[in-house]
Amino acid sequence: MSIAVNKKTPIYYNYIGGEWVESSSKEWIESYNPATSELISYSQKSNLKDVTETIDAVHHSFLHNDWSVNPKRRYEALLGLAGKMTEKSEDLSRILTEEQGKTIRESRIEISNCIDTLKYFAGAARTVFGRSIQLEPNNFGVIVKEPIGVIGIISPWNWPALLMIRELAPALAAGNGVIVKPASLTPSISVEIFKLIDEIPEFPKGIVSIVTGPGSSIGAAMATSEKIDMISFTGDTSTGKAIMEMGASNIKKVALELGGKSPNVVFADANLDKAVPLIGRSIFISAGQICMAGSRVLIHESIKDEVVARLKHYAEGLRVENGILETADMGPLASQSQLDIVQEYCEIGKQEGKIITGGYRLTGGEYDKGYYFSPTIIDDLSADCRVTREEIFGPVLAVQTFSSDEEALEMANDSDFGLSAGVWTADLNRSMKMSRGIKAGTVWINTYNKNFPEAEFGGYKQSGLGRTRGIDGLMEYCETKHIHIET
Ligand code: NAD
Repeated sequence: MSIAVNKKTPIYYNYIGGEWVESSSKEWIESYNPATSELISYSQKSNLKDVTETIDAVHHSFLHNDWSVNPKRRYEALLGLAGKMTEKSEDLSRILTEEQGKTIRESRIEISNCIDTLKYFAGAARTVFGRSIQLEPNNFGVIVKEPIGVIGIISPWNWPALLMIRELAPALAAGNGVIVKPASLTPSISVEIFKLIDEIPEFPKGIVSIVTGPGSSIGAAMATSEKIDMISFTGDTSTGKAIMEMGASNIKKVALELGGKSPNVVFADANLDKAVPLIGRSIFISAGQICMAGSRVLIHESIKDEVVARLKHYAEGLRVENGILETADMGPLASQSQLDIVQEYCEIGKQEGKIITGGYRLTGGEYDKGYYFSPTIIDDLSADCRVTREEIFGPVLAVQTFSSDEEALEMANDSDFGLSAGVWTADLNRSMKMSRGIKAGTVWINTYNKNFPEAEFGGYKQSGLGRTRGIDGLMEYCETKHIHIET
């Protein structure tokens, strides 16, 4: 749309070459609060010219300042951003909730995780080291780590602040230049963070840029650009596959953080007082719109009825309301299209199994203004049901039953995905056997959803390629060079 904007509504521009730039498209993305349907911001619906200018600006900056060889500068810059985000954390949390719909308490956690991640990678910027090796008499190899060059980060809408920072921080720590394209559903929080970047003099002009716009044009232009050396993508598995193909044009490095259908496996000896609320939280946090959602629960047959009854009680006790309220346990879904998808899966679930609780859109009063859905549990499902196999990305828990450890392991691995899993047991041997047997990037034992910037995260199978967080996450953003010296 061309701009006839309400002046009171925030307007966000692209940040290119260290300047705020209006797109020549003169078109805008409107963002709405999914809890109230109120218009909350306008951001640029950029065109291909914007993408080209952004890539050139980052490229120029990468080549013409000391960023790539000055770790202390990178440390100061990332620490500076952590400080600015700390000062603004309450404002950022509010903007995140208003744009994405998650509860204000979850938004505070997300912003505080961003700050922790920035601090960790600020330190890591000063530890990007290689090694040396004697190869034969008078011959030494020096193995150095270097930045890759220009990185394109394409991020999703579900945890829009953290999933941008989770990649931005290590990419910058390693000395690269970066272009970010946030999801069109949630551009505001990303651009707000760039406003803070703009205040930090240690970032060279142009080394980090943001351009907003549709994935199908702007994201695709980044993925096919010969001037971008690596794409770091977080999002849907089908989009990830398309990005891999697009990146092949210049053998671009591609890092992918994709979807999941993660199981919580509950054995008869589990501490249910601890397990049930954490399993409930693992699927209903962010209204189930989280890649590592514990969307399958596999329960030993001897405790099945008890666990399902307790999960039902948990789900029915959640307060579903506007996430901005301190009392909210679960906010609305992020968009009409997400609501439609979840509703459709619940209709399928009714055919495939038995609804234990939920399964419907919440309506009446304030609910009519937003995209609210009931926390849902579906039982009596088999391994080949669609609600057992496909990522729903909503507050829908699929229940299955097992009778032996071997069957539990087989069921846990019976998925195209392999992002994460939870194992609930008091038996140490069993927990180790399960955690080594499960094909997933993260296995939590007697807990769930615990993430730290220093611990690697990523997917087996169709849940991704490469690792984020930790030392491996930093090394994803480095090239390796062997310098051979003969004396
Ligand atoms: P999505 O794939 O629709 O979009 C992600 C990003 O890709 C957006 O910025 C979008 O604009 C862009 N995009 C879309 N089409 C594109 C194209 N053809 N070329 C280039 N870019 C394109 O995903 P989403 O709906 O925003 O996010 C939900 C998905 O993300 C779920 O599958 C979820 O599991 C996954 N996810 C994974 C992780 C992880 O760490 N593994 C974390 C969060 C979300």
